Amino acid sequence: MIYNQILVRFGDLTLKGRNQKEFLNREYALVRHKLEGLNVNIINKHDRIYIDILDEDYKKIINALDKVSGLSSYSLCLKCDSNLDAIKESGYNLVHAEITTPKTFKIETRRANKKFPLNSLEVSKEVSAYILAKMGILEVDVKKPQVTLTIEIREDATYLYLDAIKGMGGFPVGVAGKGLLMLSGGLDSPVAGYLAQKQGIELECVHFESTPLTSIESSQKVVDLVKIMSAYSKNNKTALHMVPFKELHMMILDKIPDSYKITIMRRMMYRIATKLAKKRDCLCILNGESVGQVASQTLQSMVTINSVTNYPIVRPLATYDKVDIVALARKIGTYDLSIKPFEDCCTIYVPRNPATAPKLDKAIEFEKAFDYEEMVDWCVDNTKTIYLTPNSDLDLSLLGLEVRNVLEDLKK
Ligand code: ATP
Ligand code: MG
Repeated sequence: MIYNQILVRFGDLTLKGRNQKEFLNREYALVRHKLEGLNVNIINKHDRIYIDILDEDYKKIINALDKVSGLSSYSLCLKCDSNLDAIKESGYNLVHAEITTPKTFKIETRRANKKFPLNSLEVSKEVSAYILAKMGILEVDVKKPQVTLTIEIREDATYLYLDAIKGMGGFPVGVAGKGLLMLSGGLDSPVAGYLAQKQGIELECVHFESTPLTSIESSQKVVDLVKIMSAYSKNNKTALHMVPFKELHMMILDKIPDSYKITIMRRMMYRIATKLAKKRDCLCILNGESVGQVASQTLQSMVTINSVTNYPIVRPLATYDKVDIVALARKIGTYDLSIKPFEDCCTIYVPRNPATAPKLDKAIEFEKAFDYEEMVDWCVDNTKTIYLTPNSDLDLSLLGLEVRNVLEDLKK
């Protein structure tokens, strides 16, 4: 491998004025934490991080950096002394190692070190002439080159690189405070969680489980999804709150007219999520709703469902197309899990004709059929919290019991 360093750039951070220092410190800490255990040397500079790739597989480093929110891009680079001969030789070595078929090519030089004897254009010309003389397959095209070699001449050293790999973008996770993500086993909510983390929100997750009405595998799926998502969190550890929803679920199935079952079910979920969010110091509730995707996600439905809470409900996917959600799910690694066909409490016993424009007064009227407040409080009080990391080996399905029994056993 030709490269000896990775140059990491920050995104929006540079725009943050007075908060910049805090943002940068969080970013440094995050990078350091994600690269723990890898054989690298990390150097913090004001607007960048340099990572020396000591004796380490660079793919592992890139893989870890892909999970750090707030980074705009990184480049694998070759670092050499700031003298023209070294720069020429390194430029040739880099291009020779990477380019094996005929390409159009250009050199872009940036000179932060103004004491360097040649100006940027002169450096580009010198290095370009040297490389072209040694490699017949390149042709210069300064307007639309297929390959650009960037040379950054700084005081301490010179850095050469070809491409920038796009980072997660956003802000360092945690900087925005905590949010409670409603996590089903579907495609959307894990993607919503990823986007929230990208934007700086530290996640706790809540899942409403109805075992044995729903299968234990559907709860296991949620555990596995949280494991994947925890890799993007601040400390590689994410809380999952399992709400025992079966009794409430059965009551809804029994007492509420078909067309309002989903509406009422979601009103109950929002009530419980609000109480949990407050208890856990979460500043918002997040979910995977996308306007118009299903009956419960029309704007009229949202009004009727949302009116049980005055807590901020953040819907990162509100305006996303399904194809874009699928692409993100593939990128973050939740797709294969999400499409496994296990029913959850919103898919089981779904009525044929759910109301697409449920009325608030009707919802309130139907809810009088049972004492839900006590049940909501019971759910909050009996919620079990587990903490998951990317390597947790919690396997609910092996135990083959109701989820709450399994979690009870785990606590002992
Ligand atoms: P998803 O793909 O995330 O399951 P969906 O399109 O299937 O979403 P719904 O089932 O209507 O939509 O759920 C909308 C949102 O409500 C989900 O994205 C999720 O945030 C939340 N949600 C649904 N069911 C549950 C559950 N059992 N536990 C926690 N949250 C849930
Ligand atoms: Mg769902």
